[in-house]
Amino acid sequence: MTRSSSAILNILNLTPEELRKKFTELGIQSYRASQVLGWIYEKGVYDFERMTNLSVDLRQKLKEMFVIGIPQEAERESSGEDQSTKLLLKLSDGNFVETVYIPREGRRTVCVSSQVGCKFHCAFCASGQAGFLRHLSMGEIVSQVLLARDVSADKKLTNIVFMGIGEPFDNYRELLRAVRTLNSKEALGIGARKITISTSGIVPKIEALGEEGLQVELSVSLHGATDTVRESIMPVNRAYPVKTLISTCKKYIKKTGRAITFEYILIKGINAGEKDARDLAKLLKGMLCKVNLIPYNPIKEFEHEAPTYPEIVRFQQILQAAEIKTTVRFSKGRDIQAACGQLRSVTCHPEQASDSERVEGSG
Ligand code: SF4
Repeated sequence: MTRSSSAILNILNLTPEELRKKFTELGIQSYRASQVLGWIYEKGVYDFERMTNLSVDLRQKLKEMFVIGIPQEAERESSGEDQSTKLLLKLSDGNFVETVYIPREGRRTVCVSSQVGCKFHCAFCASGQAGFLRHLSMGEIVSQVLLARDVSADKKLTNIVFMGIGEPFDNYRELLRAVRTLNSKEALGIGARKITISTSGIVPKIEALGEEGLQVELSVSLHGATDTVRESIMPVNRAYPVKTLISTCKKYIKKTGRAITFEYILIKGINAGEKDARDLAKLLKGMLCKVNLIPYNPIKEFEHEAPTYPEIVRFQQILQAAEIKTTVRFSKGRDIQAACGQLRSVTCHPEQASDSERVEGSG
C-alpha cells in the first residue's frame, strides 16, 4: 500500500534519537537507524536504494515512509578573489536560500541560513530589505551543511557559522535541533565549540541559550555602542536597547564562563569615528569578549562605504588600548556577493526574479 505524500517524513527533520525512536515504532531494529545515519552523514548518500547494507525489503519500506529531503542546487558561484563558493539552493516549496562554503587558513567553514528572508531589517544587510517569508526546518538547515561539505575537496568541514540569511534566534527550536544534530557523533560530529550562532541581539534567547548547557560560540551583532547609533541601523535596538543587551551578555558570560564575540560593521559617517570607538571601548571594557571589526560590504539599498584603512586601524587601536581583544575581518567572497551582509534569497527561480523581487540576506 502506498502512503499519501503528506504522511512521508523528511528523514533529515529527525534528530538521531528521534530517528531511532521512529524506527522502533515502525518495528525496524534501532541499529538500522545507525546504518541509515552513517550513509547520510558519513558517506553523503541521499538515496535509500544505494544503502546496500540494508535488505531490499527494508529499502522499499523506507522509501514508502521517508524521503531524504536534500534541496536542489540551483546555482553555484565561486569567488575569483578567494576560494569561497556560494550555493543557491531551491527548497521543496520553491523558495531559495544561500549557503557559503569558506575555506580559510586550514579551516573549512560553512555559513548557513536559518530563515527565508528576515524580519529584522538591519539597514546594512541584504536579508532585512524585503521581509520575512518563513523559518527553515532543521532538515533544511542540516542539508545546507551536507551540500557545502560536498563542495570541499576532502569532503570535510571544520566550522559552522549561523551567519547566513535570517535571525537564528527567531527560529530557536529548529536552530537548537540542528545544532544538536550537527554536533551528534551519529551525524556530522562537529564540535560544539566549532559552531557559532550569530544574533542581532534577541535578549530572551541569549538568556535561553545560556541555560542550554551547550558549548557553542555566541556572536552578537552590535554595530553601535549607543542607542542613537545602533537604532539608526538596527531597528531591533528599540526592543532590546544597548544597556539591556550588554547586561544580558554579561549574565550569559557569567553563567557559561564563555566569551562572546561582538561583531561590528564599520560604516563611514555612521559608527566608525573615534568617538564611536571610545564609546564602544567604555561599553565593553572588562568583559570577557572579543570584537570583530568588519569593514562594510556595500549593498545597493544602503549607499555607504567602509572607512579608510588608517581609520580602521585607529578604531582598532582605541579598543586595544582599553585591553579589548580586537580583530579586523575583511570578508571573503565579496566578488560573488557572498560576504557578510550581502547574501540574498529569492522567492522564485533567479532567472525569473527581478531585483525588486529579491529578499536579501545575511547574518
Ligand atoms: S543582520 Fe541578521 S538580523 Fe539583521 S537583517 Fe540581516 S539577517 Fe536579519
